[in-house]
Amino acid sequence: MDKNRNIKWHKAKVTKKDRWMQNAHRSALIWITGLSASGKSTIATELERSLFVDKINTFVLDGDNVRHGLCKDLGFSAESRKENLRRVGEVAKLLVDAGVLTIAAFISPYAADRDSIRSLFGADEEEFIEVYLKCDLSVCEQRDPKGLYKKARAGEIPQFTGISDPYDEPAAPEIIIETDRLSVPDSVDIIISHLKARKII
Ligand code: ADP
Repeated sequence: MDKNRNIKWHKAKVTKKDRWMQNAHRSALIWITGLSASGKSTIATELERSLFVDKINTFVLDGDNVRHGLCKDLGFSAESRKENLRRVGEVAKLLVDAGVLTIAAFISPYAADRDSIRSLFGADEEEFIEVYLKCDLSVCEQRDPKGLYKKARAGEIPQFTGISDPYDEPAAPEIIIETDRLSVPDSVDIIISHLKARKII
């Protein structure tokens, strides 16, 4: 028996577009993907701060943070990574419906998982903005702010992206930022310019 058969979608009286009007900016999901230490959390939090100062409703969903709560039951197998991102995608969708310019910072190594999140959003409204932080593995490994590469090389972390697990480079991301060449402020500016050019903010 379909356990959802008695559940109906309850239609709201305030729409996403009403919220866009009231906020004087649109909402979207800025999906930041890249290797560990490519700069996702750093850029996400700097971008959030910069948008917040400009009175924009914004919120960061961070890979490490959701694994403390919403996804604390999940590991790092391909199946668990998929479920992790499925949950994050659904939460992000609710935030975007609530009018929030949402920033997500997740390694999200599999193109198929990123694409299923993209498919939750309207292509016409350009609500999904994939930002690929392109950073050479050797630079990520040198930065190693959390000492994870060191542990992965020592065999202490199985299924570590870039070392013992694959990373599918995005084929057609909206934005590519080479964080091994650019500064954090310049990287943030690239995203802000894109948001302005698309009239999201
Ligand atoms: P991730 O979230 O991708 O694992 P973090 O943001 O936690 O990466 O760490 C990236 C590290 O690299 C930080 O210590 C940051 O200060 C440093 N860094 C150097 N240059 C950059 C840059 N252009 N963009 C982002 N981070 C950078």
